[in-house]
Amino acid sequence: LVEIRGLNKYFGSNHVLRDIDFSVARGEVVCVIGPSGSGKSTLLRCVNLLETPQSGTVKVNEQELTDPDCDIDAARRQIGMVFQQFNLFPHHSALDNCTLALTTVLKKKRDEAERIARENLERVGLAEKVDAYPARLSGGQQQRVAIARALSMDPALMLFDEPTSALDPELVGEVLTVMRRLADEGMTMIVVTHEIAFAREVADRVVFMDGGGIVEQGKPSTLLSEPREPRTRDFLKRVL
Ligand code: ATP
Ligand code: MG
Repeated sequence: LVEIRGLNKYFGSNHVLRDIDFSVARGEVVCVIGPSGSGKSTLLRCVNLLETPQSGTVKVNEQELTDPDCDIDAARRQIGMVFQQFNLFPHHSALDNCTLALTTVLKKKRDEAERIARENLERVGLAEKVDAYPARLSGGQQQRVAIARALSMDPALMLFDEPTSALDPELVGEVLTVMRRLADEGMTMIVVTHEIAFAREVADRVVFMDGGGIVEQGKPSTLLSEPREPRTRDFLKRVL
């Protein structure tokens, strides 16, 4: 579903992604781990071209986003993204946070948009909170609204950038539970995370990044328990 070839990204003279090749199959759950500054977020943001790489190709669902003729807005619609900061619209209810793009971008009728939004809020366990405004929701609930909002667009792929890092520890579980359920439903997911236990349990593959490159990748049981590369071993020693 995702195919990235020869990706290079610079911020000024800072070479942040170095010749990355990276693919994700349909239905696969890939967790990306690695130290701060290793390029995890930048790689994720290149998947939907929120960052423009200097070279390389990014293909998602048969569309080449790096092709200058690509309709980038249309291509992005099939990619849901969830950030560390939930980025909800504070003056819109949970329901309207989910309907907004459906009515404005996809031109759905109000009824239809609400039906889809309610369905997805229910999917993340927030059926009772449809009318609540973000300020009245806990961080975990806000993040679940953000997930429901992304799901409402019926994406082929979901990107998560440290979705639980801004949460109080007691709220992390409810968000991971929703993500685990999504994975079980067969959603294709790329998850940048520090939750090694989640990666171990849910990921089909774990990718370890360091210094702008993919150092090592493999099954969680192998990579997390018997890493080959010293850099992976050092990192895991520090976080486990
Ligand atoms: P963290 O775990 O702290 O989130 P990360 O692995 O996600 O780190 P990135 O955010 O991708 O790392 O950053 C990789 C490198 O790119 C860092 O050196 C960072 O300073 C630099 N960088 C990221 N975004 C920008 C930007 N918008 N402008 C300039 N430099 C940037
Ligand atoms: Mg990051």
